[in-house]
Amino acid sequence: MLNDLASVMFDEAALAAKCREMGQELTRDYEGKDLLVVGILKGSVMFFADLVRQINVPLNIDFMVASSYGSGTETSGKVNIKKDLDADIKGRHVLLVEDIIDSGVTMSCLMAELAKREPASIRLCALLSKPSRRQVDVQIDYCGFEVPDEFLVGYGLDYAEKYRNLPVIGVLKREIYS
Ligand code: 5GP
Repeated sequence: MLNDLASVMFDEAALAAKCREMGQELTRDYEGKDLLVVGILKGSVMFFADLVRQINVPLNIDFMVASSYGSGTETSGKVNIKKDLDADIKGRHVLLVEDIIDSGVTMSCLMAELAKREPASIRLCALLSKPSRRQVDVQIDYCGFEVPDEFLVGYGLDYAEKYRNLPVIGVLKREIYS
């Protein structure tokens, strides 16, 4: 599988170190608060699992399935909520955990929807951000790494549902998707 990468952008050590660093910041910020951490499936699954174990406060977890991508590599500009939260978020501190913010369309639609449910606060934590691709303004409260405009796979990120299980994040060889 590693042969399908043109290059590795973040290896296992870099990803683990980033989760520890972000976990420490989140621990400080959410100490004493009723925290619900929401993973946006499927892309955030590896980051989510590693991150929550570095947040040293009692918390709840929940998941949503929302996507603006089909099996291709360009955003469709629409968000589709396929699985909603189990929990009522009214009055709670919600932290959304996303793999990557690209155009920002998915997350801005989702955050607007969730804000209607009157949480005490709603913040966004994203492992990766591609600022050069932004179409709508999204505030990323906790951002792991800013990345260039390359199609990335691994550590939860897929191409046509494959490569999510790669332990590193890398640039997929162009000949694989074009
Ligand atoms: P946005 O709405 O911000 O354009 O799209 C965010 C979603 O697009 C991410 O959650 C992710 O599923 C997908 N996405 C954006 N960039 C990439 C990328 O480089 N690689 C992969 N695998 N998915 C991406």
